[in-house]
Amino acid sequence: MAAPFATRLDNIGLSMIRQIMLQAAGCANLGIGEPEFYAPSVVREEAIRVVEEEKILYSPTLGLPSLGRAVRNYHGNRRGDAVCVTNGSQEALFDLLFALVDPGDEVLIPDPGFVAYATVIQLAGGVPVRYALPAQNDFMFSASEFERAMSTRTKAVLVNSPSNPTGRILASGDLEWIAGFCRDADVHLISDEIYREVHCLPERPPSLADIDDRAIVLSGVSKMASMTGWRIGWVCGPAAVVEKANVMHQYTSSCASTLAQKAALAVFSPEGRAAVERRRRQLDENRKFTCDWIDQRLGRAFAHPQGAFYLLLSVADLGRPSLEVALGLLKDRVAVIPGAAFGRQGEGFLRL
Ligand code: PMP
Repeated sequence: MAAPFATRLDNIGLSMIRQIMLQAAGCANLGIGEPEFYAPSVVREEAIRVVEEEKILYSPTLGLPSLGRAVRNYHGNRRGDAVCVTNGSQEALFDLLFALVDPGDEVLIPDPGFVAYATVIQLAGGVPVRYALPAQNDFMFSASEFERAMSTRTKAVLVNSPSNPTGRILASGDLEWIAGFCRDADVHLISDEIYREVHCLPERPPSLADIDDRAIVLSGVSKMASMTGWRIGWVCGPAAVVEKANVMHQYTSSCASTLAQKAALAVFSPEGRAAVERRRRQLDENRKFTCDWIDQRLGRAFAHPQGAFYLLLSVADLGRPSLEVALGLLKDRVAVIPGAAFGRQGEGFLRL
C-alpha cells in the first residue's frame, strides 16, 4: 500500500503555540495572541443587520469592491495597487508565498518571528532563511545580520513591524534601508503590518507602503479591531502580484466570508476607527501595568515592547530550555509560549 499521508507534512506538525494551547484549558492564559475585547459595536450591529436584511452569497474572489477600496485607501491609495481579501492575513501569507516561491527559492524571515512564516515557505517548497534580530541588542534590526542572510537565491524578504513576538518596531530609517536593499537586489519585499494599529508610540508606526511602491503589505482586522475569529485579512500591493495571489485564493477558499467582509467594512467608518483607537489605548494601559508589575514584582529582564501586545520575558538565568520552562508553568496553570517557538533568538525567553 502507498504511504497513507503525503510526505509534504512529514516534518510539519502543529506549532508549539497550538500544542501549548491544547493543554491550556483552565489556565491563566497568556498564550495565544489575541485581544480579548468584543468587536466594535458598529461592526456587530452591521453584522446583525446583514444577517437579517441581506442575502449572503459568494463575494467576488478578490473581495467586496467596497472593502477593497477602503483597504486600498487605508494603505495610502498607491497607484497600481490591488487588494485581495482573504480568510485572515494567515491565508494572504499562504496565497502570496505560493504565488511567489519556486522550489529552492530562499525567503528571508525575522528571528525571532511569527511561527507561520517558516512553515508556509517550506510548504511552498521554499527555504526559510532567518535574519537575526539579536536578543542581546534588545531585538533591534541589524543591517549586518540582514546582509549576511541574503544570497543569490533570495526571492523575497519578509518584515514584521510591530513584531510578534518582540513587540519591537522598526524605525523609518531601517525600513528605508531594507526597501533600498531589496530594490537593488530585485527581490520581493513583504511587509506584515497586522499590528500597526497596536502601538504605544506618540505616532502610528511607519508603513512600508509609504516608503516603497513595490512593497506588498499583509494586514487585516484581527488585531486592530479584536476580530481574530471573523477571519478577515488581505494582501495589498502591485496589481500583478495580487492577481497571482488571487488565483491561489480562489482555489483555497473561493472568497472570504461575505458576512464578515460586510461587517469588517465598518472598521473603516469613523466609529470603527474610534473603536480601534480605544482598544489601542486600553492595550497600552495593559502594557504599562505588565511592565511595571514585572519590574516591581519579578525583577526579571524583558524586551521593552513598543507595539503589538506581546512581551518577551527573560528566563535565561534558569538554565533550562524555554519549552521546558513553559511546560512547567502549565502545571502551575499558567499558559505562556516558549520563545524557542519563534527561532533561535527567542530561546531563553517566554512570550507573554
Ligand atoms: N502575522 C502575524 C505576525 C501574526 O501574529 C498573526 C496571528 N497571530 C498573523 C499574521 C495572522 O493573523 P490573522 O490570520 O488573524 O490575520
